[in-house]
Amino acid sequence: MLTTSIKEYVSGIKSSLKEEIEGLSRKPRFAIVKVGHDVGSDSYVKGKVRDAGEVGMEAVVHQYDENVAEDELAREVETIALDRSVDGMIVQLPLPRHIDEGRILSLIPPKKDIDGFSPLSRFVPCTPKGIVDYLDFLGFPFKGLNAVVIGRSNIVGKPLAKLLLSRDMNVTVLHSKTKEEDRSFYIAHADLLCLATGKAGLADARYSYKPSAVIVDVGISRGSDGRLHGDAVPGLPVYLQTPVPGGVGLLTRVSLLRNVMEAYRHGI
Ligand code: NAD
Repeated sequence: MLTTSIKEYVSGIKSSLKEEIEGLSRKPRFAIVKVGHDVGSDSYVKGKVRDAGEVGMEAVVHQYDENVAEDELAREVETIALDRSVDGMIVQLPLPRHIDEGRILSLIPPKKDIDGFSPLSRFVPCTPKGIVDYLDFLGFPFKGLNAVVIGRSNIVGKPLAKLLLSRDMNVTVLHSKTKEEDRSFYIAHADLLCLATGKAGLADARYSYKPSAVIVDVGISRGSDGRLHGDAVPGLPVYLQTPVPGGVGLLTRVSLLRNVMEAYRHGI
């Protein structure tokens, strides 16, 4: 297996996307629908716009007031969905409580659903896709190996487990109701351990790990020290452990660009 860092890998993908886009007659374009000003969302959206600019794509942000009515937002989303100059679109979550998230997301046509949140979307959700693409690039031998995914959300844990299953791994999904002794057992047998809980220090020196294991740390939480932490403590005795920050977040972001490119190639 290669040991190329995530930073190096992502910068390689961005360079090739940029080169491909330079040769196109029209720039790929995607829309970001955003309501209100959640601090986290504001910075994620800024990052997406910056990433797009770096490879020569256009990201258009449609910002709405925190109190926008659900029907008005629905009409706006429908208009963007019909706009033939837009290859892909995202509704930045979370939406304010008075808005039915499911209804708004259902208005995104599957061929423009670059976040891949709807079961009908033609795209794989960005975080699971980013992880599997990177492991593929490293030459990780998925087939017949044990994958343990901790976390069962609809945007990370479940789609990741499904994707790993499609790569012929033996997949176990653990969650908040898993007993401690069972967690130790599964972790000790994992060839690939994917952590997606947001609980800092969930995986630490209490457990034993296969020295050949790969740990993919999706979790991000802010500690009382103000710093970002993953679900695993750094420096576990395994073959490869992805860092936080500067790990899965970068893979997720570059996957979004890849999905936009796929939407563009497929045609509006
Ligand atoms: P979520 O809150 O929807 O799901 C968390 C999951 O963790 C749940 O399924 C729950 O059962 C499980 N869980 C909680 N406590 C647990 C415990 N003590 N032991 C075992 N399982 C436990 O979160 P999410 O949207 O799936 O995100 C998970 C984490 O990944 C968060 O920290 C989030 O910020 C991060 N995230 C990172 C990226 C990225 O690009 N790096 C993308 C998405 C999410």
